[in-house]
Amino acid sequence: MCKVIAIANQKGGVGKTTTATNLGIALSMKRKRVLLIDADAQGNLSICLGSTNPDQIPFTLADAIWNHMEGRPSKIRDAIIHHEEGVDYIPCNIELSRGEPALINARRREYFFTDMLSEFKQEYDYILIDCSPSLGIITVNALTMADSVIIPVQVEYLSLKGLELFLQSIDDIRSCRLNPNLQIEGVLMTMVDERMVLCREVIHELKAGYGDVLPVFQTTIPKSIKAAEISALGKSIFKHAPKGKVAEAYLKLAKEVLANEK
Ligand code: ATP
Ligand code: MG
Repeated sequence: MCKVIAIANQKGGVGKTTTATNLGIALSMKRKRVLLIDADAQGNLSICLGSTNPDQIPFTLADAIWNHMEGRPSKIRDAIIHHEEGVDYIPCNIELSRGEPALINARRREYFFTDMLSEFKQEYDYILIDCSPSLGIITVNALTMADSVIIPVQVEYLSLKGLELFLQSIDDIRSCRLNPNLQIEGVLMTMVDERMVLCREVIHELKAGYGDVLPVFQTTIPKSIKAAEISALGKSIFKHAPKGKVAEAYLKLAKEVLANEK
């Protein structure tokens, strides 16, 4: 059984891409077959995984989407790149935002991901979709296809405000019947600096305010310069700083995600 998890939050810079990359690789270290989808025109996931200039990749998710939109075979399989740390990924680039206006008028516009990517459920145990910081049609596609969503949240007041907005969007996706079964895998607190009083307070507030109705991962991701460095290196935290606390945290997160299946 394959599980499709969208990593999403319309707030920018909260650790979505870092989480998609390192959770994906952590799951593959635990012998799961993992496909990562870069669903952001910024191409950050592709960069994180070593495609230094995504705008020069000849065939990406964006090209497959336009094929599909124009009624041709999407050829999405041609976009898959194998990463040396065991995951496969489908890259993306700026072309995605160029074509987005056309997509808005397309038939079954919310179901492009479902139509194009469902065939991969036979081949992978996890499909993780790294969403862009927006609630545009591409993110709606990811949330329509997903079984669940991981919501990275940075521990600060404005982030929590954004969380409320995002939870409302998930309710909308459920209630307009695009995906009535969409689950919340968990809220993930990222870039946590335990020494900061504000951090401790916000974590406490989040757990007190939402804990019972909203799953919050036990694992939190510490703030670390090593984690910030990997964005440009094309490798995971497990290669860059395998003994560090961020590597440890992402392995713990993978364990929690796996435990949710039991
Ligand atoms: P966007 O909304 O633009 O897609 P994002 O939510 O995907 O952003 P990331 O790109 O993962 O967020 O992270 C934002 C920035 O924070 C990046 O520069 C990244 O290197 C850095 N970062 C991510 N996780 C950590 C961490 N645990 N400690 C320190 N820096 C981090
Ligand atoms: Mg990102």
